[in-house]
This record gives sequence, structure tokens and C-alpha cells, in this order.
Amino acid sequence: MIREHIAEIREQLPSEVKLVAVSKFHPAEAIREAYAAGQRRFGENRPQEFAAKVEELKDLDLEWHFIGHLQTNKLKLVLPYADLVQSVDSQHLLDAIQDWGKANDKVIRVLLELHIGAEETKSGFKEEEVLDILFRADKYKNISFCGLMGMASHTDNEDDIRADFARIADFKAYLDDLFPELADFKELSIGMSGDWKLALDYGATIVRIGTAIFGERQY
Ligand SMILES: *Cc1c(COP(=O)(O)O)cnc(C)c1O
Repeated sequence: MIREHIAEIREQLPSEVKLVAVSKFHPAEAIREAYAAGQRRFGENRPQEFAAKVEELKDLDLEWHFIGHLQTNKLKLVLPYADLVQSVDSQHLLDAIQDWGKANDKVIRVLLELHIGAEETKSGFKEEEVLDILFRADKYKNISFCGLMGMASHTDNEDDIRADFARIADFKAYLDDLFPELADFKELSIGMSGDWKLALDYGATIVRIGTAIFGERQY
């Protein structure tokens, strides 16, 4: 089924949009199955599970994205292996990543997570916090700011989801105008299993799809 799901999504996904297969809570075998179907880019949201899968699957040529909450005491589980940390959601985390990058002589590629959904608890920066960071972007020598990530409200109401995506897309366009010197600031990571087709209307460059590829997660 994984093969069919990937083929189905690929058929509808413009070729320039990157598909991150979100494999959290699914075994390494499921990733191997997706790999056999041509999928190379995977996303995980828990540092321990991320590191374990990187190790277990190191015989494959994979691109790993980290998409979950990252505590600063877990950086070493993630930063050596992540091609992109999509979920930077606090100033404290950003500073810690900068320090780690400097100490390890590495430039870490990140997305800033923008809070767009309705849920009060959902993590992410406010617009003004993102602005504040990007005005100081040149201070972060070991961080490459690659764009924005966002999660739409958890709802079946298409208008609400579209409003969330419109907000982040407009803000991304505003930032592109304001910071033309940020050459890597290209990605807009929006869209999950339930809403990725809508996200394409708002300029998604990355979609993060779990359930629609691997099935329901067993928590
Ligand atoms: C789990 C997760 C996804 C994938 O969700 P699905 O609904 O299973 O596609 C996408 N993005 C983030 C940040 C996630 O935590």
C-alpha cells in the first residue's frame, strides 16, 4: 500500500514541490518500503526516534528532516544528521542551534515555524518575532534561514485552512521583499495529509505527509 500511496501523491504533486514522508511512529521497515518506491526524503518529530532510524537506515541514501519540538539538550541527536530542521519555534532554541553549529563547525539549515493555526497550544513564532530574528540574521553565522513552516488549524473547515495558508503565504512574500539578501529563504513548508492539496494553491514548496502514505499511527 505504501508504494501505491506514494505513486498517487506523486501523480498530483508538481515536480518542484518536495515531498517529506513523515514516518514517525512507523517502523524502519515502512521507510524501506517507501525507499523501494523511490521516496528519499523523510521526516521525524522525536529526537530519539529520529536518531535511532538514522542509525538503523544508514545503508540507504536518505534525506532527513526534523519536524517536531526540539529541546536544547537533544540537539546532538538531531543536528548532525538533519538536512533541514523545519520546526525552530523559539529564540532559545535558535540560539542553542547557533552555539552547536559554531562548536561543531557546521551550518544548520532551518525553517522558522510560524504559529498560524487556531489552537492555543500550538507552537511557533508570531510574525513580529520572525521579523525580529531576520533583522538580526547575519549574527547567526552557523544558521541558514531557509524559509517558513506552518501547520493549519486542525479542522475540516476548508475556509479556515485556506485562511491559515493565505496568512503564511502573504507573510512569506512580505519577508521575501524585505530581506532579498537572504538567498536561501525559499521554502514554504505547509500541507499535511488532510490539506496538502489546498497548500499547493498557496505556494507550498514542501509538503509533509504521514498518514496518507503510511496509514494511521499506532501511539
Ligand atoms: C505528524 C506531522 C505531519 C504529518 O501529519 P499527517 O496528518 O499524518 O500527514 C506533518 N507535519 C508535522 C509537523 C507533524 O508533526
